[in-house]
Amino acid sequence: MTQNSRIENEKKSFVIIPGRDMGLLAAEDLRHLADIAHDYEVPAVKITGAQRIAFLGVAESRLGALNKDLGLPATMPHDRGKIHYVQSCPGNRWCKFGISDSPAMGKKVAALHFNRPLPYKVKVGISGCTICCCESWVRDVGLIRGRSGWKLIFGGNAAAAPRIGDVIADGLNDREAIDLIEKCLAVYSEQAGKNIRSARFIEQFGSEKFRKSVLQ
Ligand code: SF4
Repeated sequence: MTQNSRIENEKKSFVIIPGRDMGLLAAEDLRHLADIAHDYEVPAVKITGAQRIAFLGVAESRLGALNKDLGLPATMPHDRGKIHYVQSCPGNRWCKFGISDSPAMGKKVAALHFNRPLPYKVKVGISGCTICCCESWVRDVGLIRGRSGWKLIFGGNAAAAPRIGDVIADGLNDREAIDLIEKCLAVYSEQAGKNIRSARFIEQFGSEKFRKSVLQ
């Protein structure tokens, strides 16, 4: 389990989101989660759009014990020097169309840590082939694997004001893709105001200017 967050809703009940990045769960993980959901009488369990698992409607009084049983700290505020989440498709290990091991690439991207806080949430979608099952065009950072390498997309968003991201480069190997993601997020951090999502930043800053800034 690598991520956990807590959201208070209007009825003052809580949501626990334990999950492994990219939705990869072993049988032991599922058994452990099922046992905890049963023991704590969690009213609903949901697989989220971010490939995590939410325990819905947990009473606040039980949060501490539940987190402990999950092996998580009581609270874990989001680290703004890290990417919010990385989702990936199953990749070539499990999918016949896959060209690349996208979960392995996802782990490399999720491990990145930045010297300065990112302006806002950065969500990453990694697709192991051009069929693009992982919504890479509408994530802050998207990777799509083609025959010649990774296509890197920046500034996408799937929320209330959706935006298809801009292609920053194509034909990248793993190392080049990681380096370019770091450059993109460095320019974003330096140039965007706090709480500005990458899609809005790119609209203000200009796609071409951004591309030149990160490729120079
Ligand atoms: S993006 Fe390609 S490799 Fe990934 S699940 Fe979809 S078809 Fe398979």
